Order: sequence, then C-alpha cells, then structure tokens
Amino acid sequence: MAFRLDIIKAYSVSEIETKVGEALKRYADLLPGAMSAKIVIKPNMNSNMNALTGNTTDLRLVASVIKFLKNCGYRDISIAEGTNSGFYRSGISVISRLSFDRLAKYYGVKVIDLNYSKKVEIDFEDGVKAGVAKEIIDADFLINMPKLKTHFEAGMSVCLKNLMGCLVGQENKKKTHLHLAKNIVNINKRVKPGLHIVDGLISMEGLGPTRGTPVRTGVVLIGTDPYLLDLVSARLADFDYKKVRTLKAAEDAGLLTKDHLRFASSIDLNGVKRKFKEPVANAFASFIHSPKRQKYFLAVRNTKVFNHLCNTRFFGNLLFKTGLRQDNFIKTEMEFKGFSFDRAKCVKGCTKCADYCPVKLKLPDVVAAKDNGCIGCQYCFLVCPSGAIGFKGSLGFLSEQLRQYERITKEIA
Ligand code: SF4
Ligand code: SF4
Repeated sequence: MAFRLDIIKAYSVSEIETKVGEALKRYADLLPGAMSAKIVIKPNMNSNMNALTGNTTDLRLVASVIKFLKNCGYRDISIAEGTNSGFYRSGISVISRLSFDRLAKYYGVKVIDLNYSKKVEIDFEDGVKAGVAKEIIDADFLINMPKLKTHFEAGMSVCLKNLMGCLVGQENKKKTHLHLAKNIVNINKRVKPGLHIVDGLISMEGLGPTRGTPVRTGVVLIGTDPYLLDLVSARLADFDYKKVRTLKAAEDAGLLTKDHLRFASSIDLNGVKRKFKEPVANAFASFIHSPKRQKYFLAVRNTKVFNHLCNTRFFGNLLFKTGLRQDNFIKTEMEFKGFSFDRAKCVKGCTKCADYCPVKLKLPDVVAAKDNGCIGCQYCFLVCPSGAIGFKGSLGFLSEQLRQYERITKEIA
C-alpha cells in the first residue's frame, strides 16, 4: 500500500499559509477536475474554546486551505460541522462563537451547521442506524481537519474521532456512546474524506478534549489515510496506540494493518515528538465512564428527566465539577465592540498578534481601526503578552476561557 503523508512545522499565519499551500500542491492529483465540485471542509468545533486552548481547529489553518482551494479555482467550498451535543441542546452556536461564520464570509465560502441537516442512515453496532449529514455524503471532496488532542474516553481525538461531528444532532451523536470506538470506526467505514489535515499547531495534552492543557507542538500533518495519521499522531504524543481506543477498534476490524505500523514506525519524528500527559479523569468520572458501566450511565443519561436536569444551571454545574461533564455550556454571549491599543505597552520586536491573525491584518497598527476586516476571533487579544490590546465590550462565555487558559495561552503563543 502506498501511503502519503506530509509533516509540516509552522508557527505564524504566513508560514502556515506558505507551507500548507506548498504541501497541498503535492495532493492536487486527488482534487476533483470540475471547478464547480462541492468541496466540504470539516474542522473540529468540539466546543466554544478556541484553537489556542488546544480544543478546536485553528482558523489560520482553515484559512490557508480555503485560500489554496480558491487559488485552484474551486467555487463551491463549505465549512461544515455538527458541534458537540451539549451546545446544540443549549441552543448555542459554536460556529459563531469560534468566528467560523465570519471567516467563511471573509473568504466568500459557505458555512453549514450539520446538526440541522437531512440525514443519510449508516450502520452502527447492534443493528442501530445513525444519521450522517447529507452534505457530507454528497460532497465531491471532503477534507477532514481535526485538532490533535487527548480524549478521556477515546484516548486521543484526531482524524477518526473528528468524523463524529458529521452525525446530525444530539439524537444521533448519543447513539455512538454505547460502543464508542467501534461506532467511530463505523462512521469512518462510510464517510471517506479525500484528505486529512491535522491541526497540531497548538495541541491538547492531559484531560482532553476540554479540560486538558494546551501545548505548542507547531506541526501540521497532511495525508490520505486516517488510520495512519492517527497512528502517527499517537507516536508523536508518545502514546501506546493500543490505548487509543479508536485505533484498537480499527486494528480489531482489520483496518489498521501491519503495513500501517511498519510505515508509522519508519517516520522520523525528531523535533516534533513530545510526551503528552495522558487523559486521566478523576476516580468518580473514571468509575462512571468505564466501558463496563457505560450502559448503565447511558440508560440514566438518555431519560427525559435527566436531560431536563442537565439543562438546569445547578445540576449542569454539579456534573461539570464532578468531571462527569466536560463543559458547562455558559449561555451568555460575548459582546465584542472592538479593541483599544496602547502603543506604549507594545513590546518592541514582538509580532505575535500579526502571527496569529487568521485574516492577516496589519497588526498591531490597525487593531483598533474601525472596519478593518476583523472577524472577532480574539486570537490577537489572547496572545498579546503585555496587555497592549484591550477588549471593548463584555466577555460573556469568553471569561471562562480566560479564567482557565489566559496565562498558559500567553506563555505558549
Ligand atoms: S484582529 Fe485579532 S480578533 Fe480580529 S481577526 Fe485578527 S486576530 Fe482575530
Ligand atoms: S502582541 Fe501585543 S505586544 Fe506583541 S506586537 Fe501585538 S500588540 Fe504589541
């Protein structure tokens, strides 16, 4: 089997754009011939925590892929995602909170919330049928863009796990849980992206997907085989692949082969490999989420009464504090009224805000200018080491991210 894989090291938005663009030219033979082809990009929008926390796909990487496709001449490009069930249930648009809708508008592409799509049924374990979004099945070319991160139930979440967001709404996503790893493999048997582009620019270690620690890994993996990419990602994080439940299920199903193992172990990861902290949940959450007890937990979780309780602030916070739930679904939106800029505080020689701006604005010079094209992603504000960029408005849900990640984001940026 001929495997295709590129490992790119990058930091700034310009570097990402140049290096990813160059690499994608090597995959041009896979792209559709017709410029009218439907091209769907599927990033990871697991929660409203932006890419700098290590949880979701970096807008800079998605922007570089869109620019490449537009330069090729493709006219029908969409960004599509069915975000995490809890946000969907709470009526929160993660697509908007992460500024993917504004990124799409900026570059003139479409955005689709797959949680509201028509369904195409696929087979899950025990004869269960689950609905995948029709736009995903109908795409002429699908590009999977996962975030590289740890996951307390699956071990790691990369290419294979990211396709869970192709399921329509909570009612279909919850069907995965009884046989999580096997059902993720089942999705991958039916949904076959032509290309996988893994965002390991800032990854997450520890208690992922939403309570871990961001680490700057500065790497993008590009390839055609999700099993190989997930295997290489496990090696990159220095994880035993057999502990990554999705990879183990793929191996049991004969989809991850000795060829994959041989090829992955032949790749030189010097300079990109680092030991990730494992996703170890607290004793209570581990007890409840153990695969042996999962069916009892799910039997309770899927009742109407429990769902109603989950939507209450008190019970929701209790689940978050005990570690049974990874997010607390803050409903207060951010009201962003622009930035202030204190030139006296700006550090001489620093270029971080410009390095992180997905739409490549001339920062910091225009950061406080009106109608400067800003998409409100907050990356510049979050990485600024000196407080020279000031937020105007009310932070809303972003205050929780600042509480957990402000210090480390500035440290690793
Ligand atoms: S100026 Fe800042 S908030 Fe606006 S798009 Fe650039 S990085 Fe994002
Ligand atoms: S990140 Fe802050 S300190 Fe650095 S150039 Fe931008 S405004 Fe100045």
